[in-house]
Amino acid sequence: MAIKPSILIVDDRKENLLALEGLLEGCGADIHKASSGNEALSLLLNEDFALVLLDVQMPEMDGFEMAELMRGNDKTRQIPIIFVTAISKEQHYVFKGYDSGAVDYLFKPIESKILCGKVRVFLELWTKKQQLLEVLEQKSKLEAKLKQQAEFDTLTGLPNRALFHDRLKQALLMVERTKTQGALMFIDLDRFKYINDNMGHDYGDQLLVQAAKRLVSCVRKADTVARFGGDEFTVIIQNIHHESLAELIAKKINAELIKPFKLGVEEVQISGSIGITIFPHDSLDFDELLKNADTAMYKTKESGRNGFHFFTSEMNHSAHKRMAFDVQLQAALELEEFVIHYQPIIDISSRRVEGVEALVRWQHPGGKLKTPKEFIPLMEESGLIVPLGKWVLKKATQQAKKWFDMGLAPLRLSINISNRQLDDNDEFIESIKNALFESGLAAESLELEITENSMMEKLNNGIETCDKLKELGVKISLDDFGTGYSSIGLLRKLPIEKLKIDTSFINGVNNDPDNAATVAAIITMAKKLDLAVVAEGVETKDQLIFLEQNRCCKVQGYYFFKPLPVDKCTNILFTQESPDKKTVTELNIS
Ligand code: C2E
Ligand code: MG
Ligand code: MG
Repeated sequence: MAIKPSILIVDDRKENLLALEGLLEGCGADIHKASSGNEALSLLLNEDFALVLLDVQMPEMDGFEMAELMRGNDKTRQIPIIFVTAISKEQHYVFKGYDSGAVDYLFKPIESKILCGKVRVFLELWTKKQQLLEVLEQKSKLEAKLKQQAEFDTLTGLPNRALFHDRLKQALLMVERTKTQGALMFIDLDRFKYINDNMGHDYGDQLLVQAAKRLVSCVRKADTVARFGGDEFTVIIQNIHHESLAELIAKKINAELIKPFKLGVEEVQISGSIGITIFPHDSLDFDELLKNADTAMYKTKESGRNGFHFFTSEMNHSAHKRMAFDVQLQAALELEEFVIHYQPIIDISSRRVEGVEALVRWQHPGGKLKTPKEFIPLMEESGLIVPLGKWVLKKATQQAKKWFDMGLAPLRLSINISNRQLDDNDEFIESIKNALFESGLAAESLELEITENSMMEKLNNGIETCDKLKELGVKISLDDFGTGYSSIGLLRKLPIEKLKIDTSFINGVNNDPDNAATVAAIITMAKKLDLAVVAEGVETKDQLIFLEQNRCCKVQGYYFFKPLPVDKCTNILFTQESPDKKTVTELNIS
């Protein structure tokens, strides 16, 4: 909305003020009056005027003096002044007025037409100026907003990656010049993905905003906390005399992040994994420093999260080694150096093999057969587990179909699924359908083992995927059961049909009363929930007896069979079908 302009009339004589006011009536401006220079100046400082009509001859402060004072002040310098005077048109007098800042003259007696004509021009100028100022103001607001968007993260308000780059570059120049040192921290929020996936992105966003605030509270004003992307933050700490200051800040950050966060009515707990690199000590190169901090952060993740590590050059060796190993694993996939062993699963009451679990191994070119724990965690980290999982699915379903075609009664084939494979539901379901279609194996013969921890991590997404699998006819079992924290309520919701009790519990059933009680309780609970139970890692007769007494229905372990290469497993599967009907226990070959 356009604002109305104001005109200030200054004259020591009241009748003059009133006369001018009368003449200006209807000119479209608010009229203000002052009867002295001082009164006028104080009005001018408090309000915005389009024009001043100024009497030249006044006691105390005359018009020229007041005009000089107006020119000397930023607030009033630009206001146009028309001098009103009765004095004759002597040139030197007029010039003096222009020198002191007048833009025009009105000579008494005042002609209404001339007055209104002149005033209108100034009012129009003022209106144009206001419009221009408005445009400029909008432009500068827009520019500020664009700058903010280009440099700051919209969610947390922290500097974004681009501004972080600038700040780190500046910090590097600064340490070189001032011969001081600084620290760069890389912070990753542990369990953020879990909360984001399961509680929804709104809560995820809230968590990021709150975490960002806590990070800022841990550093000094001059330091930079930036959002690097996703749940990753970076901190630049300048001018540190000793590494111990970076250590102190890292500890503070760890302590802040571990405190519970309130999201709506829920409380959640996360933690932070921090990597720290010191410049110029570790490097003065921008990219190298980032890599260092990231490497050190990974070290923290590997050591159990919620903590910090300073970068050391040894970490580089292990990072290089890991990268070289990644390359080898990629090649191993292409060259199909992986093999699958099959471990029979036995039904206790009939003592017959009722299924097999496919367990992958790597036939290393060096000659050694490597076990999953030597390569699966790394492949999960790099994502290579997804193509490996597909390969296992394809090969194992083909093998199961082959056994069926050879005349064996239908066997249940169990295949382990990594939670990375569950990251993309559609792709995963597609790969299962493909494997079944290409091998010709019946969906009912396939069982997928998902660990209790993976299931807890995926939760809602996981349930959705499992529902779809169930529709296909594929069975789901919860692997390594007992190591996670699922509740009975949750177990009821999961579309699973089997629990596999983790090896670590079976290990101690005969000498650790706690283990024995846990296993017995799991079996009882599973029966109530109508779930089948497999005890994994059965190595001794005593363990088998305990399980039998506690009515566990299926077992798997070295006591019966180790995971076997295809040929050996084929033999076993056929021998138990042999006419002499030897029980598997008697056949024990391990
Ligand atoms: P898991 O699925 O719990 O498999 C059971 C593990 O226990 C196997 O180890 C098996 O060899 C071992 N085991 C069986 N009976 C006994 C016993 O009596 N005593 C002892 N001490 N151990 C026994 P393995 O083959 O080393 O596999 C380890 C883990 O690697 C598996 O645990 C599974 O989580 C993972 N894994 C194996 N193959 C695959 C695969 O194709 N894909 C994925 N994603 N993971 C796999
Ligand atoms: Mg398994
Ligand atoms: Mg297991």
